[in-house]
Amino acid sequence: SGIIAEEKIRALFPILHQEVNGKPLAYFDNAATTQKPIQVIEALKNYYGVDNSNIHRGAHTLASRATDYFEQTRELVKTFINAPSVEEVIFTKGTTESINLVASTFGRKFINAGDEIIISTLEHHSNIVPWQMLCEEKGAILKIIPIHDNGELDLEAYKNLLSDKTKMVAVVHASNALGTINPVKEMITQAHSVGAKFLLDGAQSTAHLEVDVQDLNCDFLAFSAHKVYGPTGVGVLYGKREVLEAMPPYQGGGEMIKEVSFSKTTYNDIPYKFEAGTPNIGDVIAFAEAIKFINQLGKAAIRAHENRLLAHATESCSKINGFIPIGTAKDKVSVLSFGINNIHPFDVGMMLDASGIAVRTGHHCTQPLMERFNIEGTVRASFAVYNTMEEIDRLVESLTKISKRKN
Ligand code: PMP
Repeated sequence: SGIIAEEKIRALFPILHQEVNGKPLAYFDNAATTQKPIQVIEALKNYYGVDNSNIHRGAHTLASRATDYFEQTRELVKTFINAPSVEEVIFTKGTTESINLVASTFGRKFINAGDEIIISTLEHHSNIVPWQMLCEEKGAILKIIPIHDNGELDLEAYKNLLSDKTKMVAVVHASNALGTINPVKEMITQAHSVGAKFLLDGAQSTAHLEVDVQDLNCDFLAFSAHKVYGPTGVGVLYGKREVLEAMPPYQGGGEMIKEVSFSKTTYNDIPYKFEAGTPNIGDVIAFAEAIKFINQLGKAAIRAHENRLLAHATESCSKINGFIPIGTAKDKVSVLSFGINNIHPFDVGMMLDASGIAVRTGHHCTQPLMERFNIEGTVRASFAVYNTMEEIDRLVESLTKISKRKN
């Protein structure tokens, strides 16, 4: 750890070394998905070329090798988030499935008519819709924590929403649309003081911040491998042992059972109770390499590098005529969301793409948040460990030109 050596890191990412529309690619869509280092790509190739086998059952060598690697990733995830045990780490296909798992199983058993679930204005659709579906089914009530104009949560309002009716609080650690980092540790303590459980959406925090589930004391943590330099199709749900053990299974099928008969079926222990069917073995195994990559650099060094990029981008862009930042929270991950006066975000995105610069435009799966700001969408540049100051300068230069067209 220490200072990030950009060239050394960039050399590990084959995809970055290409031209797009005749210009070197500057990839700023990292909040949507990060690129993958060569170790992850090689691990996938190696799995299918050498180790491919179904896990947890075969008596043969390949099966036990694949099982060992698969379970080694679980060990790495456990350490990565400081979970007390591997049994509390469940593999899913992404943050979305992790949240749906909790909403359907915890929700089915523990949420009743009149109970309240609290989420926030900052939430991604995947941390809104599963709770709406549950509320509709159960007659429970969804309460929304409002935000201030700078994109920070209104914590006074949060305190006032909490009551003995609150059964679940589900809040994002860092906003994908604005970058706001929420003070979740104290929010979790407050939720517990009324007896509610707390689900933390870590999709946008796990690549940037230390996420220690024991220190935070969250009951659940959901995140996606593909946003932390790992493959798509893999997610994690961490849950506290006693909560997971009290929850009914999610899907029924192989692996999640102890014994099946037509008169009575008994369920497997955690985590397998929640992992029905053949999982995404190859991608889980390759995910290990992504965690090792992050561990080698260290979150502190990653954060320091990304903070430098964000500070430089924020400061330079503020000088552009017609630049409107959306979300100016004090504490942010490396997300710069903005509009350019009189130009549709989509057009800004197209013009940047013509210069080889990849950003995201639109509502970022946070339509209620866009509504809060009375906008249709934003342009979002989100930075990762392999981005450079020179790339930021190219972004600023292109945006300056774009802004001059209409401003
Ligand atoms: N929550 C947040 C904050 C996100 O940014 C995302 C992905 N954009 C998700 C949840 C959903 O993650 P996935 O699509 O990987 O399931």
